Amino acid sequence: MSRPLIEIFQLEKAYPKKNHVVPVLKGIDLCLVAGQFLSIMGSSGSGKSTLLNIIGCLDRPTSGVYYFDGVDVLKSSDDQLSRLRSRSLGFVFQNFNLISNLTVLENIELPFLYRDDNSTEIHRRVHLAIDQVGLSHRKDHKPAELSGGEMQRVAIARALVVAPKLILADEPTGNLDSGTSLELMEIFRKLHQQGSTIILVTHDQKVAEFAEDCFTLHDGRLVLSKES
Ligand code: ADP
Ligand code: MG
Repeated sequence: MSRPLIEIFQLEKAYPKKNHVVPVLKGIDLCLVAGQFLSIMGSSGSGKSTLLNIIGCLDRPTSGVYYFDGVDVLKSSDDQLSRLRSRSLGFVFQNFNLISNLTVLENIELPFLYRDDNSTEIHRRVHLAIDQVGLSHRKDHKPAELSGGEMQRVAIARALVVAPKLILADEPTGNLDSGTSLELMEIFRKLHQQGSTIILVTHDQKVAEFAEDCFTLHDGRLVLSKES
C-alpha cells in the first residue's frame, strides 16, 4: 500500500498569553490518503483554523509529528515549506481573497507567478480549472461583477490550477447563503469524484456531511463522527 499523504501524531499547539500558555490542540492524530475527502467540524474557537493552518504549513505546531507526502514538516526550513505550499497545496478561504483589479482569468493564473511553467501549459490548466468550476462565461469579469458563490468558485479554480496534492478549505461557505453553500459543496463533491484530495473545515453540519469522512474538533482533539 502506498504511503499516506498526511501522517500526524500527537500534534499540539498552544498560544502564549500574558505569562501562561493556552493549549488549543491537545494531541491530534490524523492519517489521510490521496483521494480522501475529509471534513472537520467544530464550534467557533475550537481550533479548526489553527489545525488547518498547520496542515497547510502556514503555521508550526508546538510539538508532535507531521509528515506531508513523506516530508518531515517540523524539520523543514521556511523556504522548503513555502516551496511545498506553492507546489502541493491549494487554499480556499472564507473571504475568497481575490485580487479586485484582476479578471477571473488573471486571478486563476496567479499561482503561476512563482513558477516557471511554459505558457501553453498555463493556458491549458487555467482553462481546465475555469471549466471545472463552470465559470468559462465569466472569465473576463472582475470580482466585483460576480456573486459570492461565483467569487468562491474562482477561488476554488485558483486553488485547483496547479493540480495540488491537497486542497484545504477553511469555512468556504461561511459568507454564502444556504442555497449557494450547497451549490458550492456540489463542486467540492465533483472534484473529489474526479480524484482531488480535500480537507474542509466548517461549523455547518450540512456542509460537513458532503465529505466521506467527518471529524469534530472537541477539546483539542479530533473525534470521528462519520466514516466512509
Ligand atoms: P476556529 O477556527 O475553530 O474558530 P481558531 O483556530 O481560529 O478557531 O482559534 C482557536 C483558539 O486559539 C481561539 O481561542 C483563538 O483565540 C486562539 N488563537 C488563534 N490564533 C491565535 C494567535 N495567533 N495567537 C493567540 N491565540 C490565537
Ligand atoms: Mg476559523
